[in-house]
Amino acid sequence: MSRRPWGAAAKPIGWYDEKLHTLFTKKGYAQRFQVLRYLVRGKKTPFQTMDIFETRHFGRVLALDGIIQTTEADEFVYHEMMVHVPLFALGAPRDVLIIGAGDGGILREVLRHKSVRRAVMVEIDGDVVRDCARHMPALNGGAFKNKRGQVIVGDGIDYARKARSGSFDAVLVDSTDPIGPGEVLFTDGFYRHCRRILRPKGVLVTQNGVPFFQPDEVTTTRRRLGRIFRDMTFYHLTAPTYIGGMMTLAWGANSPAARKTPLATLDKRFKAAGFKTRYYTPAIHKAAFDLPPFIAELAEKAGRKKRG
Ligand code: SAM
Repeated sequence: MSRRPWGAAAKPIGWYDEKLHTLFTKKGYAQRFQVLRYLVRGKKTPFQTMDIFETRHFGRVLALDGIIQTTEADEFVYHEMMVHVPLFALGAPRDVLIIGAGDGGILREVLRHKSVRRAVMVEIDGDVVRDCARHMPALNGGAFKNKRGQVIVGDGIDYARKARSGSFDAVLVDSTDPIGPGEVLFTDGFYRHCRRILRPKGVLVTQNGVPFFQPDEVTTTRRRLGRIFRDMTFYHLTAPTYIGGMMTLAWGANSPAARKTPLATLDKRFKAAGFKTRYYTPAIHKAAFDLPPFIAELAEKAGRKKRG
């Protein structure tokens, strides 16, 4: 993806203030972007309000309901870590289910794994897929046209409810926050469907917020997923525009085998895959499961509450 200075000549037309930690988490803190132009502005879809705007330093930016979803400049961090950690841990996954991820970045990274014969992406909002394909084509990087990929417009929980048992090696949930259409993707019911459609060695990974501002998401997810998967934990990444430091991704599996894949094996698989990454490495993969105490304690809190 090109790293040219976007819109070098354009004169800024104003600022875009993110609403996640003002309106939603009420933490009284916000990031703002200097906008060069809008490609999509305040578009009301059947599910949410969409903005796509151009900036000088982050390229094009997608926001839904005033919450930053992805930017061209730093999307690689989150997309590489949500995809390559579970898929290299598994080794040769064949069937991958992606829930949400309408910008196409997750599908793009999944299809870099040659062993994947079928990647199904289920996104609730067709406008997100169409407008991102049109205005942020580098995100999907041609994945929307790849025969191994299948894009379905629909609610992820409906698809998971109807899918055949044991039909996927990995389920990757790249959803919005647990507000609006995304809320159902943080429920026991959805997690149970995910476990049923995973193969015995299968892995579930879900977007789980930034603990410094969204601590309850760690505790709640730990409690809910911990009841359903024998091996449940989190790993972390740091993406510049998911403000507040480390973001957590939740990990659920029926056994610790995939998570415990040795570094030497990950190195061999990464080399054999033969593609370049900008954030993911096997060493970063292993280290990402080491949680700092303030996050580990949020997870433990769930255990204590459960025993209480
Ligand atoms: N990486 C971003 C983040 O961590 O905040 C998320 C990006 S992706 C664009 C989020 C997508 O989830 C949105 O396009 C939204 O429409 C979709 N989504 C929300 N609820 C959904 C549901 N119930 N089923 C399928 N997709 C859903």
